[in-house]
Amino acid sequence: MRLPKLVSSKYFIFLVLLTVVSVALFFPEVANARPGGGHSYSGGSSSGGSGGGNGGAAVLFELFFRIFLFLPPFVQIILILSIIVSVIWYHLRHQGGDDPVHNHVQSSGMDAYHFQQNQLANQAKQQKIDALILRDPAFSEILFLDFSHSLYHKFYTTINTPTIRSILPFLSDNIKLFMRSDMAKTSPRTEVVVANMQISDIVIMDEQIKIIVDFQSNYSTLQNDKNYRHILKERWVLVRNIKTMSTSPEGLRDLACPNCGAPNDFNDAGVCGSCNTLIEAGEMNWMLDKIILQEHQHYRADTLGTYAPEVGTNAPTIIDPYLKEKGAQFIALHQLEDPAAYWGTFMEKVVETTYQTMYKAWSDRDDWKSVRHLLSDRLYEANAFWIHLYQEKGYFNRLENITLEHIEPARITMDNNYESITVRVFASAIDYTEDNNGRLIGGNKQKPRSFTEYWTFIRKIGVEKPESAFDTTQCPNCGAPADQMSDTSVCGYCGTKTNLGDFSWVLSNIA
Ligand SMILES: [Zn+2]
Ligand SMILES: [Zn+2]
Repeated sequence: MRLPKLVSSKYFIFLVLLTVVSVALFFPEVANARPGGGHSYSGGSSSGGSGGGNGGAAVLFELFFRIFLFLPPFVQIILILSIIVSVIWYHLRHQGGDDPVHNHVQSSGMDAYHFQQNQLANQAKQQKIDALILRDPAFSEILFLDFSHSLYHKFYTTINTPTIRSILPFLSDNIKLFMRSDMAKTSPRTEVVVANMQISDIVIMDEQIKIIVDFQSNYSTLQNDKNYRHILKERWVLVRNIKTMSTSPEGLRDLACPNCGAPNDFNDAGVCGSCNTLIEAGEMNWMLDKIILQEHQHYRADTLGTYAPEVGTNAPTIIDPYLKEKGAQFIALHQLEDPAAYWGTFMEKVVETTYQTMYKAWSDRDDWKSVRHLLSDRLYEANAFWIHLYQEKGYFNRLENITLEHIEPARITMDNNYESITVRVFASAIDYTEDNNGRLIGGNKQKPRSFTEYWTFIRKIGVEKPESAFDTTQCPNCGAPADQMSDTSVCGYCGTKTNLGDFSWVLSNIA
C-alpha cells in the first residue's frame, strides 16, 4: 500500500492546501442586506463576469495547475477526487445550491489619515457652500442635489431618444458632442438607480461657478437581447454663470424653463415652447458640462451583486467640523428653550420611529409603498429597485429584533430653503435572506449583526410642526391615513406631494 507513505509525504501538505483553497473558492460568504447603504453593487470582486475582480484567484489556479502537471499520476487522481468531494459536499450543504444572494454592504470605515483628510475636505466644502449662499441666497444644497438627481435620471433614460430635448437647455456643447460619440450611442438606460450622491467640491471662478457632484449609481441596458446591469462611479461637473441666481425650488426639481417655469417644453434648438425664449445652457440655470467616468463594471442582470463584509462599524463618527456652530444656529432659529429635550424627542420620535417603520416595510417586502411619504424620491426608488429584484427571485430579506443601540449627531445644515440633520445610527438586527418556502439563502437566523449608517433627514425652513407629533402612519399635510400615497408620494386625500420636507422631516439619504 502506498497510501500511508503518501500521508506522511509533503504531497499531503499540498493536498490539504489545495483542498482548503478549493473549498474556500466554492464557499463565497453568503450575505445579508439592508435598505439604503446595504444595497449598492460592489465595485470589488464579482461573480457575474465583469471587468475586474477574480484576477488573484486566476493566478492561484494557474500556479496550482502548473504544479499539478509535475505531480505523480496517483497524486493527481487524489487531488481531482478531493475537489469532486468538496463540490459534492458544498452542494449537499446548500441543498441543491441555488445561487446565493451576494450583496455589498457599503463601508463607512476609514483610517485616521483619511478621516482627517475627509474632515478638512468637509470643512472646505461647507465654507464654499456658505460663501455661495451669501452670493445667491436662494441656493440650497438639498435642492441642488435634487436638481442633479433629476438631470442624471433624465439624461440616461432619454439619451439617444427624441425626448432628450426636454433637457437640452441643461447640457453644454461638450455634452452634446459626447452624445454624438460612439461611446454614448447605446440604447437609453433603464432602471437608473442613484445609490449615493454628494457635492464634492465648489469652484468659484471669475465668470462661472462649478459644482462637482460624485455619483454612485447603477442602470440597465439591453445589448444583443441580453440585459446588463452597470455599476458606475461618475463625477459630474455642473456650471453656471456667476451672476445667475437660483430659480424656484419647484422649477429646479422639475427641470422647468428657468425663464417662465413651464415644465419640459423645449424644441430641438432649446427654445421654450411656452415663453418662446432661447434658453442658453449655463446662463439662466446650471448645465452639465463634463462627465468623468471613474469606475464602470457590468454584470449580466441575472446576478444580484456581490457581497463584501461590513467594515467600519468601529470607525470614528465623521462629525462635521461645523456641527457645534450649526447646532447653535439651529437652536436659535427654532428658539429651543431646552435643546437637550429637543434632541431627545427628535431621536426618539423622528429617527427611531422612521427607522423601525422603514425596516419593517423592507422586511415585509411587498408593502414598501407604506413608507412612500417618509422617504425622498431617490431613496424610495433606489430601494424599490432592490425589492423588485427580491420579488422576482422569490426572496425575502428578513430583519428581526432591530435594536437601535446608539444615535450620534454628525452634521446639521441650514440655508434659506431647507435644514438637514445627519445622525449616525449604531444598530443591530437578526438579518437573513430566505426564499418563499422559508429556506435560508443567506445570513444568520440566530446571531444578530451589528451595523452603522449615516441617516440624513431634511425639512423645509419654517415648518414648525412639533417632533412629538411626528406620526409615520399619517399624511404629514392633512393627517389622513398614509395609505393612499401615489407612486410619486402624492396623498390621495389632500392631493399634495408629501415627501419634500414641506410639512415635516423626511429621510433623504442613507450612507
Ligand atoms: Zn419658458
Ligand atoms: Zn394628505
